[in-house]
Amino acid sequence: SSKDRYVVLGNPIAHSKSPFLHTHFAQQTQQNLDYRPLLAPLDEFDTTVNGFIAQGGKGANVTLPFKLQAFALCTELTPRAKAAGAVNTLLFKTGHIIGDNTDGCGLVNDIVHNAGVNLTGQRILLLGAGGAARGALLPLLECQPAQIVIANRTVARAEELATQFQPFGNVLASSFEAVNGAFDLIINATSASINAEVPPVPASVFSPNCFAYDMMYGNQPTVFMQHAAAQGATTRDGWGMLVEQAAEAFYLWRGVKPATDALLKQHP
Ligand code: NDP
Repeated sequence: SSKDRYVVLGNPIAHSKSPFLHTHFAQQTQQNLDYRPLLAPLDEFDTTVNGFIAQGGKGANVTLPFKLQAFALCTELTPRAKAAGAVNTLLFKTGHIIGDNTDGCGLVNDIVHNAGVNLTGQRILLLGAGGAARGALLPLLECQPAQIVIANRTVARAEELATQFQPFGNVLASSFEAVNGAFDLIINATSASINAEVPPVPASVFSPNCFAYDMMYGNQPTVFMQHAAAQGATTRDGWGMLVEQAAEAFYLWRGVKPATDALLKQHP
């Protein structure tokens, strides 16, 4: 057909919500495009991308486990993709593969705009030091918080991240157990909730007006959200982050900002 074509690349990919989100955005903004899941074999990410480009593909989203391979494949990177060391959005121009990372921006838009939490001058605790935590750091620091403490099970990873991002703000590293003081915002960027585990931080990290965010989402509150709520925190899961990262990718491709309110209400 004459429609501009986009895909989401992953392995597995059948359960991705991205085709649903982008098809909704396309209808809402009256953009004539086609967006589908595309399963990439684990050892054939690059050939799958190049094959899609050869067929006239305009862009792609990238999900697990290919965000690092996508980063390596790009000929150009946005500053936030460079800082994240990972790419979730590809834009194809003749002879160029442009890589962006909209995950962190999606997180911040969900917290600041959708949940109405002002991060300026606030103390933030970021749990985890994997890809999702790394991608969140630059967008969070752009909100000019007073401090970000990165706590991780493997403390050396938190220390590496803190060193990398110290030029952009007040960033410290810690183990879970040694986290000091109370925080305005606590973000769970670990995958501990998958195993029904909660990172073992002291109960004193939850300030009286604490906002607790879990990047994971599902049809019920995660164990981290349940724990945070029991400490008096206001909680939110990662559905809005997913919706907002998609909206930002759509904007990069089409130059049109879709409204997200209808999708935010369609929480699984
Ligand atoms: P990574 O595999 O890159 O990192 C995993 C992180 O979780 C590491 O910091 C790891 O610590 C920590 N971890 C894993 N298991 C445990 C545990 N049992 N206890 C404590 N810490 C643990 O994953 P990602 O960063 O890509 O993803 C993290 C989470 O964020 C996932 O749940 C993912 O679903 C979610 N996510 C949500 C998005 C959204 O749009 N809503 C987008 C991207 C991610 P260590 O370094 O010690 O191994």
